[in-house]
Amino acid sequence: MTDLRSDTVTKPTEEMRKAAYEAEVGDDVYGEDPSINKLEETAAEVLGKEAALFVTSGTQGNQIAILTHCRPGNEIILEAESHIFYYESGASSAFAGVQTRTLNGIRGAMNPSEVEHAIRGEDQHYPETGLICLENTHNRAGGAVIPIDNMKEIYSIGKTNNIPVHIDGARLFNAAAALNLPASEMANHCDTVQVCLSKGLGAPVGSILAGSREFIAAARKWRKRLGGGLRQAGIIAAPGIVALTNMRERLAEDHENAQYLAQQLGQIKGIEIVNQVDTNIIVADVKNLKMNSSEFVEKLKAEGVFSGTFGPSYVRFVTHYDVTKKQLEDAVIAIHRTAGQMI
Ligand SMILES: *Cc1c(COP(=O)(O)O)cnc(C)c1O
Repeated sequence: MTDLRSDTVTKPTEEMRKAAYEAEVGDDVYGEDPSINKLEETAAEVLGKEAALFVTSGTQGNQIAILTHCRPGNEIILEAESHIFYYESGASSAFAGVQTRTLNGIRGAMNPSEVEHAIRGEDQHYPETGLICLENTHNRAGGAVIPIDNMKEIYSIGKTNNIPVHIDGARLFNAAAALNLPASEMANHCDTVQVCLSKGLGAPVGSILAGSREFIAAARKWRKRLGGGLRQAGIIAAPGIVALTNMRERLAEDHENAQYLAQQLGQIKGIEIVNQVDTNIIVADVKNLKMNSSEFVEKLKAEGVFSGTFGPSYVRFVTHYDVTKKQLEDAVIAIHRTAGQMI
């Protein structure tokens, strides 16, 4: 079986399992779990922020960021296909009580002057703009890297208007690998950032929320309110430390594999690659195969290759460290067969 549905399917490495087994632990709600403390310190350093907080998931990290930055009745500006808007079950309205102001981006990047114009002025009719959210890499834009200049410009607009900027950086390390820049350079253009340990980095559980010391203290309280205060969490933090220290450099390999797969799929009649493949995500349009995406995904699954629907005729493939080049070569043959073509 070759699972290309997502990089969330990566399983912990031997080293991570060993680290979990041997982890020194304590009660993290008392601040006494050495492994959690080390993970948070490491993450803050890697991201170039004062402090970091371990959270259970990317969604929890993003929502804690919104809860900490905003008050009920605020408006947040974000891209129309962003994960926070599209895939978090309406959490920002359910919990933080904020309303969303979505802007259509190009390859996931919002136009800075549109962001500027979306910021609310002083008028009793208006909600207050509480936060600007970016997403890098942008999932629904096919793992697109948001350029540094775009982040810079939006961050500077945020600063001028006294509005914080949060980056949903579930795959920020993929963006850093693609640009060959340190993650801290990417995270420099925001007040707060969320990164996933459990996607391409392969840790079993968890995300990091990073920002100023003051922000993280307030975020810690929101995490507690949400029931996210964990006890001997070092068991899951230890694999996270391995993820941050040993797994980032190899993301470029996933990107090379994605290039290979995109190039092969692009040669199959009836399949069109619709995204510019910047990182580890490939989006293919199968409409010319006279199948919808669900039919294609089902048919391919019968061949032992798992992919995901990404729209009525769009199918998503994600490369990650649990899929070898050989498996990809075999997957290409299976995809040929699914497309009704023999090679
Ligand atoms: C996966 C993902 C998240 C959420 O992470 P979970 O750990 O699944 O909650 C948030 N943002 C983006 C862009 C993602 O891809």
